[in-house]
Amino acid sequence: MTFQLPTTCPICQETLAPDRSLDDHLVGSHTHREVVSHFVSEYDLTGEQSVAD
Ligand SMILES: [Zn+2]
Repeated sequence: MTFQLPTTCPICQETLAPDRSLDDHLVGSHTHREVVSHFVSEYDLTGEQSVAD
């Protein structure tokens, strides 16, 4: 049995209850748009340039 560290939401920094998955939290507490824009901005910070302009 692996001990699971509490999951923290990368968007609102809320610590999730141990029986809640991050996916459940994202779906229940954030809009799809929030989730997408969060992960898109993370991606941009890696230095990758979008060529789709
Ligand atoms: Zn959150």
